[in-house]
Amino acid sequence: MCNSLKVRWTINPRTAPQPWIVCSGCGCLKPFKSSGKIRLNANGKKLDAWLIYKCVDCDKTWNRTLFERQAIRDLTPPTLDALQGNDPHWIRAREFDLDTLRRKSQCIDEFADADVQKEVLGERDGGSLLEIDLAVTLPLSLRLDRLLASELSVSRSRLQALSDGAKLLIHPDRADAMRRRVKDGSRIVVDLSGETDGHSIWKAAVSGRTD
Ligand SMILES: [Zn+2]
Repeated sequence: MCNSLKVRWTINPRTAPQPWIVCSGCGCLKPFKSSGKIRLNANGKKLDAWLIYKCVDCDKTWNRTLFERQAIRDLTPPTLDALQGNDPHWIRAREFDLDTLRRKSQCIDEFADADVQKEVLGERDGGSLLEIDLAVTLPLSLRLDRLLASELSVSRSRLQALSDGAKLLIHPDRADAMRRRVKDGSRIVVDLSGETDGHSIWKAAVSGRTD
């Protein structure tokens, strides 16, 4: 180890949250999965929009109301285009909108699976610092220590030891940050000087997933 590295990890969750809804097919509460499809109903100058979900067991549909009797002239052209074209980015933002989902369901399954895209922001000679900036595009239920363990190929106990020895710092510093879910805008700084496997950690920070 003879240089310092700054990287950005962009974390894109793979599986959208699944609210538990009473399924009329199964006759009980079941998790529902987004179909990624919008249903629209125009009524004069008003528009209703739903996002269609399906029971994971029997495919029965649940229409999640996005809005009802919305004046079409109040919708921006990009929103109208997104609705009419089933725009996957627009729909994805709704699928991960937990605040709104919680108003529809008491229980929501969240997932930790994600794609991590790694890019080098800068490298300089000297020091042995590894800086990781996190960009978390949508909320996901993934603990910071699990992400770091998986992406750096080190154990969670090792990470804890580094943290206890002030060789791993998290900004902003929050109580128990390692066990909390990953947060957009966080920065992790690891001092790898004196770590015999520093080079492999350094390499893992910029390479593809190793699990
Ligand atoms: Zn069902």
